[in-house]
Amino acid sequence: MKGHSQTIRLIGAGLNGPLLAILLAKRGFRVEIYERRPDMRRVRTSAGRSINLALSTRGIHALTEAGLWQSMRKIVIPMKGRMIHSVAGDLAFQPYGKDASEVIHSISRAELNMALISAAEAQDAEIHFQQRCTGIDLKSGTVHLRDEQTGETTTLESEVVIGCDGSASAIRSEMLKQNRFNFSQQYLDYGYKELTIPAGPEGKHLLETQALHIWPRGNYMLIALPNTDGTFACILFLPFEGADSFASLATSSDILAFFQSRFPDALALMPQLADNYFGNPTGAMATIKCSPWHAEGKALLLGDAAHAIVPFFGQGINCGFEDCTSLMELLDVSGADWLRVFREFETARKANTDAIADMAVENFVEMRDRIGDPRFLFRKKVELALEAKYPLWFVPKYSMVTFHRVPYSVALARGKVQDRMLSELCDPIERIEDLDWSRADRLIHRDLTPLEQVS
Ligand SMILES: Cc1cc2nc3c(=O)[nH]c(=O)nc-3n(C[C@H](O)[C@H](O)[C@H](O)COP(=O)(O)OP(=O)(O)OC[C@H]3O[C@@H](n4cnc5c(N)ncnc54)[C@H](O)[C@@H]3O)c2cc1C
Repeated sequence: MKGHSQTIRLIGAGLNGPLLAILLAKRGFRVEIYERRPDMRRVRTSAGRSINLALSTRGIHALTEAGLWQSMRKIVIPMKGRMIHSVAGDLAFQPYGKDASEVIHSISRAELNMALISAAEAQDAEIHFQQRCTGIDLKSGTVHLRDEQTGETTTLESEVVIGCDGSASAIRSEMLKQNRFNFSQQYLDYGYKELTIPAGPEGKHLLETQALHIWPRGNYMLIALPNTDGTFACILFLPFEGADSFASLATSSDILAFFQSRFPDALALMPQLADNYFGNPTGAMATIKCSPWHAEGKALLLGDAAHAIVPFFGQGINCGFEDCTSLMELLDVSGADWLRVFREFETARKANTDAIADMAVENFVEMRDRIGDPRFLFRKKVELALEAKYPLWFVPKYSMVTFHRVPYSVALARGKVQDRMLSELCDPIERIEDLDWSRADRLIHRDLTPLEQVS
């Protein structure tokens, strides 16, 4: 497809837009991106920019395809497992995977975004900042833009437009006006707030560096991901309303007293807690599902615009980046027959993005509550033992999602089968030494097939 003369217009230079631009440009397409915000490399914007992301296998695969992963390694920190903090300050480490190769990577969202934007420009993608898409004619592909500085409006006749404009997508809003467009948006009753643990002396981390720290407290939790500058980016997840909620923590003394009683070891490391808490907005989290993702072979939704998910499996961008590579695989087979490619893309992805959306909601309960439960930890140990003995057959759900590229829908379905198996094997026993291996062997060979046969 090299030398292709078509221009593809992307809306949104968040995380998916620039990555997609790179992959398209490498295939010879001309790419233009229209982004409503100023260029973040020149102007600091507030919006959730200190949040870190956990990058895992699917995201890394896409960055590798784009030729970027090696250079990104300098700005990531591997996290080998969860470090659980009890109220008393006791620490318990739970590895994420079966060995040192199975780690997730903490990366600053802002740094990743800036690196992607620069790499897209290096591939000759044109990026137009402060250009807000205000609508699109889905039949003709005409895009309406407004310059955020001058208020000037323009229209662009476009052959193909891809909405990478996130969970509040303007392109999706236009699709919503179409007949028989399916749309659901499910908010959690929880919000989130960004907080920071500053670096210690000489820029050292004040907590274990290579871990994702979690303070699970049943109905709510605090997490912290390491940054390369010695700080930790923390996120407090609380209900919006009720006792111990964003509504109930209204003054500095409320928030300090709350942390003193629930997260005392974290409070000791957060001298700016009240300033952070009141200086940063409270974010909402929703699952968005919709279909169709495309219109007339002219417009397509991709990433959060098509399927926003809650952040508890750390998969939002990994899934979005997998959208990008999946779209490229189809394009490589079918060429620029966009209607066909868009249809095949949705067929290939929708069941999988629905599956990770559901798993992400389920994982919230695991993170904020179950990871502190000794029975849950016991099951995790048994899972890893089964994987060690049957590495091709029994792969924990977390690992299938995070360290493999099997379709998410397969991970969900096998996860359910494995859960039943674990209940059968774990419920009667207290110690791993008492595991009935011949029963495990029977169940595994009866109910599972080797993972590679289904992926
Ligand atoms: C608290 C939190 C933690 C998360 N943690 C993780 C994690 O650990 N791992 C992970 O994989 N994912 C995580 N995610 C999810 C991840 O951030 C998203 O999946 C990802 O940002 C989606 O990328 P996107 O490019 O589709 O959308 P966005 O990153 O939202 O980018 C959309 C872009 O479009 C622009 N835009 C919007 N409207 C218009 C318009 N009308 N005209 C022009 N431009 C427009 C926006 O300014 C923005 O730049 C987390 C999300 C949250 C909220």
